[in-house]
Amino acid sequence: MAHGLVRKESVETEMHKSEDKTFVYTKKRGYDVTRYPHLNKGLAFSLQERLQLGIHGLLPPCFFSQEVQLLQVLKNYEIKKDDLDRYVFLMGIQDRNEKLFYRVLTSDIDRFMPIIYTPTVGLACQQYGLTFRRPRGLFITIHDRGHISTLLQSWPEKDIRAVCVTDGERILGLGDLGCYGMGIPVGKLALYTACGGVPPQQCLPVMLDVGTDNEGLLKDPLYIGLRHKRVRGQAYDDLLDEFTKAVSERYGMDCLIQFEDFANVNAFRLLSKYRNKYCTFNDDIQGTAAVAVAGLLAALRITKSKMCDHTILFQGAGEAAMGIADLIAMAMQKEGLAKEACLKKIWMVDSKGLIVKGRDHLTHEKEPFAHEHPQMNKLEEAVLDLKPTAIIGVAAVPGAFSEQIIRHMASFNKHPIIFALSNPTSKAECTAEQCYTLTEGRGIFASGSPFDPVTLPDGRTFHPGQGNNAYIFPGVGLGVTACHARHVTDEIFLTAAEALAHLVTEKDLAEGRLYPPLNTIREVSITLAVKVIECAYNQKLATLLPEPADKEALVRSLTYSTDYDEFVVDSYPWPENSMSVQSCKL
Ligand code: NAD
Repeated sequence: MAHGLVRKESVETEMHKSEDKTFVYTKKRGYDVTRYPHLNKGLAFSLQERLQLGIHGLLPPCFFSQEVQLLQVLKNYEIKKDDLDRYVFLMGIQDRNEKLFYRVLTSDIDRFMPIIYTPTVGLACQQYGLTFRRPRGLFITIHDRGHISTLLQSWPEKDIRAVCVTDGERILGLGDLGCYGMGIPVGKLALYTACGGVPPQQCLPVMLDVGTDNEGLLKDPLYIGLRHKRVRGQAYDDLLDEFTKAVSERYGMDCLIQFEDFANVNAFRLLSKYRNKYCTFNDDIQGTAAVAVAGLLAALRITKSKMCDHTILFQGAGEAAMGIADLIAMAMQKEGLAKEACLKKIWMVDSKGLIVKGRDHLTHEKEPFAHEHPQMNKLEEAVLDLKPTAIIGVAAVPGAFSEQIIRHMASFNKHPIIFALSNPTSKAECTAEQCYTLTEGRGIFASGSPFDPVTLPDGRTFHPGQGNNAYIFPGVGLGVTACHARHVTDEIFLTAAEALAHLVTEKDLAEGRLYPPLNTIREVSITLAVKVIECAYNQKLATLLPEPADKEALVRSLTYSTDYDEFVVDSYPWPENSMSVQSCKL
């Protein structure tokens, strides 16, 4: 059989591809095979594999297909008593049998995403000391400065294409969880594979532990992180500089570094510091922006208008608001409006009221959205005065879109756009039901957390859109890593947003959906990845040369399959193109 080496796992294990199948060559034997999640198939090992791998007798004598294993997992899953138990159960499968874990997730992503990611992952992070079984990912502390490249050498995988890193200071809406924040990069990268098809061995979750200012954790005997206050200033910056440099040196300048859940004070400046130096992005700013803009672009098909016809008012002026506002301005510019004119169409209310020129508490990021206007303290005042066509809630102030505000929006807009993006559900600015009822079904609604469909007294049913970042980052990650892009630009995110909006059908729109169904996410990610690759070549960011003519074929050839690989144990010496054989020859 003709073999092409697709991946070298270690000195002992290699994956070779022949036509559609992947074959595993491994020198591991016995428990080393069954205890290694990348190789373990549990009861799906064939008799021949059991005999040749030295595991015959280490497993019960029956043989299960992956389908039967899936049913067994689902049966177990159903008897778990709460979501945290379900999270721990699924993570246990990830530790034992990786292919099965992803088979389970992809069997019903709609069902499992809220468990391995928001909202359950938030609870899991809060309880990380209790749920902690096996370490997953790399833990780097402020005291490891000067040694980060040595730590990276300890990571067993050599071909890392995507790193997701947090310092745990702003975990979801839960604040500073220190080292417990590791659940976030672990969960995000699981979605890279489940939603985007990026192979899990190519993903590395990283916790940068600089301490925590969370007094509760500092006193918690089960806390697994550094027991001191957060180190800030030059030492913090040096750690980040050393980390980003070490990752790029070890895994290449095209290794994607995703920043996740950093506090406001660091998120913006780290993004602007590294975005033109490394292949990096911040999901809370840029990923959120793309998913929200995709929702707006889909909404424009209902309002039959252009982006620059709109006046948009934000409730909140943090990471999410700034990212979304910048990308909206970019979309308006693309329609031909001058940048200054675009910015004038975007307004923000923060905790001090409407952002206007000359006001106190204006950060560098807020300045472009501070317009000449009298000061106003209340959102409702601003709504009545500015008459926005869209209001976007990203301040985590529950109920901020009051009945009066929604009614005002419905009084001067045929189709008011109302996005209640704050998470979790308890923080939403309004519910889907309030939006649809108070606007008599004319409102265009999207939320950060899922809401059930709403049926109005006249019988019309609306399916609210969930602006989940998982629509964007796995597809962007897949595309960026496939073409070995050097940077992740805002153009890439706008391209992804446009591609996502394009996938929304007329039927979806008629039902109130602004995003494609979540269970189509694998195909959504592939479409986004192809568009991202085209954009990367147009912008001369892609370093994979020559440029592949069939980009979809490239993407599909790289995506992870949850089918078990076949072991080849009787054909040493290894195939001629084996890296081990070649390195022996050298
Ligand atoms: P952040 O801390 O960076 O920003 C919060 C902003 O809210 C700040 O500008 C603050 O001044 C403002 N604010 C606080 N109290 C206010 C008040 N009473 N009135 C008006 N403004 C007030 O946080 P962030 O990263 O921007 O996230 C904000 C919210 O958006 C969170 O709930 C988060 O879960 C949600 N979010 C949703 C998505 C999504 O749906 N895809 C993505 C990212 C963030």
